[in-house]
Amino acid sequence: MTTKTSRISGFHKLLPEQRLAKVAEAVGLEPSAISHLSNTGNLDISVADSMIENVIGTMNIPLGVATNMLVDGEDVLVPMATEESSVVAAVCNAAKQCRSTGGFFTAMSGSQMIAQVQLVGVSNPEFARLQILEHKEKIKALCDETDPVLLKHGGGYRDIEVRILQGRTGPMVITHLIVDTRDAMGANAVNSMAEAVAPFIAQWTGGRTYLRILSNLADHRLARARATWSLEEIGGVDVRDGMLAAYDFADIDPYRAATHNKGVMNGISSVVLATGNDTRAVEAGAHAYAARSGQYRALTQWEVDGQGNLTGTIELPLAVGLIGGATRSHPTAQIALKILGVTTAERLARTIAAVGLAQNFAALKALATTGIQKGHMALHAKNIAVMAGAVGDEVGQVAKELVAAGKVRVDVAESILKGLRD
Ligand code: NAD
Repeated sequence: MTTKTSRISGFHKLLPEQRLAKVAEAVGLEPSAISHLSNTGNLDISVADSMIENVIGTMNIPLGVATNMLVDGEDVLVPMATEESSVVAAVCNAAKQCRSTGGFFTAMSGSQMIAQVQLVGVSNPEFARLQILEHKEKIKALCDETDPVLLKHGGGYRDIEVRILQGRTGPMVITHLIVDTRDAMGANAVNSMAEAVAPFIAQWTGGRTYLRILSNLADHRLARARATWSLEEIGGVDVRDGMLAAYDFADIDPYRAATHNKGVMNGISSVVLATGNDTRAVEAGAHAYAARSGQYRALTQWEVDGQGNLTGTIELPLAVGLIGGATRSHPTAQIALKILGVTTAERLARTIAAVGLAQNFAALKALATTGIQKGHMALHAKNIAVMAGAVGDEVGQVAKELVAAGKVRVDVAESILKGLRD
């Protein structure tokens, strides 16, 4: 018996293998589990150790490649990192079905991030607002001095907005620094600028500044994608109208919208993760944007064009970069960017938006026709086979029988496996 405690003094100062030994001792890990965690695959333990704290190993996620994507007239192969079956296949299918109409057409509103500086303790917030706005030039200089490298790459300060909010603790004056972060996601860049500007805002207004951090609702960095699916490719009016009804449902009901958007994010987060970008930052921005009207709604829109074809659009904040964070430090992310062939953060964001739209098309079509489970379970059968204990060739054989039986369940997989082994 081991006595488990979460108090491990000096844990963070240890080497990864020493930490692993401590954890193994604390919870009684088998030697096989220790050796499993010691094998970090294609991410060197020293790189992992420099990325986050208290590292003991790595967690590998499958990396798939979506085919058939035609984005702004160019074919792209899209790397997607996800643990969920059907996500990659969905994108491949949806992308194939809109090639005849030219694929995806994309755009971007800009590459500007927002950093917020919170000012409190002013009895005359309107007055303070103007005091801040009067110092635009000084604020620009402070921002640009903070990140000369960004400036060299054509980025830097663009504008300020000053908003007054009424909080429970009194009024607060919120300054938005709007900064073009070019090929960087820009969190560190704009956070540093907010910290540099804040003391001056306090000095000019006589108030007190508290928070100085970016907003993930990056609505000056909206990625847009649109595509048309012909009636023929969809499979007729009934399927199209079923898809439209599914979209209508999502747009008026937050319970449905959450699942609709989860599907969209299946595609988006997979590419964000594969390229070493911050999935939480993108997800927070997407969901906040979906709720901008005051009601949480669908991130995509579906309509019918003059010929009866289905047209889809998506617009969401997509703060992703090619520089900084894990995009540079994770070797797989670098290779994923190479597979994509993108050389700007804007091109990456636009491609990701197209993937989100493709994913949503596939989900709506499945829901409007056979239901989501048929295709999903066929692909999920291998996971179920592994859960039942299948190894090597058994996995494929058990999965095939599960699908043929129309019962993709662990108990069924166990009995098929038993039969095979007997
Ligand atoms: P970073 O600071 O590592 O790199 C960006 C810097 O690279 C720029 O400031 C600039 O000085 C330089 N640079 C060089 N070439 C450039 C080019 N072509 N375009 C733009 N900049 C160039 O990274 P970052 O993008 O500022 O921050 C991203 C990281 O911040 C992510 O890891 C994210 O997880 C993390 N983060 C996120 C949040 C949040 O989302 N709320 C908060 C804090 C940190």
